[in-house]
Amino acid sequence: MRIVVLTGGIGGARFLLGVRAYAREVGAEVTAVVNVGDDLLLHGLKVCPDLDSVLYTLGGGADPERGWGRAGETWTVKNELAAYGAEPSWFGLGDKDIATHLVRTQMIDAGYPLSQVTEALAARWQPGVRLLPATDDRLETHAVVSDDQGRRAIHFQEWWVRHRADVPTDRFVFVGADAAKPAPGVVEAIAAADVVLIAPSNPVVSIAPVLAVPGLRDAVSGGPAPVIGVSPIIGGAPVRGMADRCLAVLGVECSAAGVGGLYGARPAGGLLDGWLVAPEDEGTVVPDVTVRAAPLRMTDDAATAAMVRAALELM
Ligand code: GDP
Ligand code: CA
Repeated sequence: MRIVVLTGGIGGARFLLGVRAYAREVGAEVTAVVNVGDDLLLHGLKVCPDLDSVLYTLGGGADPERGWGRAGETWTVKNELAAYGAEPSWFGLGDKDIATHLVRTQMIDAGYPLSQVTEALAARWQPGVRLLPATDDRLETHAVVSDDQGRRAIHFQEWWVRHRADVPTDRFVFVGADAAKPAPGVVEAIAAADVVLIAPSNPVVSIAPVLAVPGLRDAVSGGPAPVIGVSPIIGGAPVRGMADRCLAVLGVECSAAGVGGLYGARPAGGLLDGWLVAPEDEGTVVPDVTVRAAPLRMTDDAATAAMVRAALELM
């Protein structure tokens, strides 16, 4: 069995722990197509927050409390940069994390595409699933905001980390998406998949930028494999993070039904054949989509693998 997972960072990485556990049980092959819309250059370093969350989490090196970055992290470089007044200072770059960004940046500067860089980093972390960036090309999520500096677009990370998503926001733009191509292997993996799972990631700023790569959405919605989504919203609230603020920008209700409706039914030109919601959201209706309820809290690998099994029963 071949499973493709569309994913963002922390929520997606935790989901992948369960997918990997399930896959090991049944001998399935897993390919994760990871959001790059959060990627940015900081102090000359190429940082890929979602790819790193997935690498560190699956590689056993993530900080479980903070959710992002490395366990046992230290902050010497960050503090030294702050002592120089070097901006931006709002993004946490840990010392261990910086080694990843140094290796990645050197490879990018030497001409390697992000997909090959990711493969090289994965040689250390052994994530146990194939990791593909959605694209090797530049694709950056920006938020169009209005503040005392007027109406302008800022990088998603500045919106999320610096402003805590708490600034009047019109919309999100995926800068560069029009000219981006799916990374090598992405469309092929989707075409060869037995099922495509949409991780319980942020639909607006993790999954949407993946689907914004031309050809990728069509590969999923027009492909042979059933597409099953897992709700990141339980009982009207994100389990963690600020997906509610992102959904509000789109005018979409923060609920399992709202996100299911945003993805839409495959027969109606949307994405989903099946939509897995939490027991709290039993009775959720998404027109033309099969909806089922199962516990959706990713408390450990076994609970998450059970979620994956419930999702696959919707095939
Ligand atoms: P990010 O890129 O690091 O922000 O992470 P993702 O976009 O992959 O995931 C963020 C989403 O994961 C949030 O909207 C959360 O609601 C969701 N999430 C986190 N933990 C859980 C969980 O245990 N269960 C479910 N269903 N969703 C979760
Ligand atoms: Ca992210």
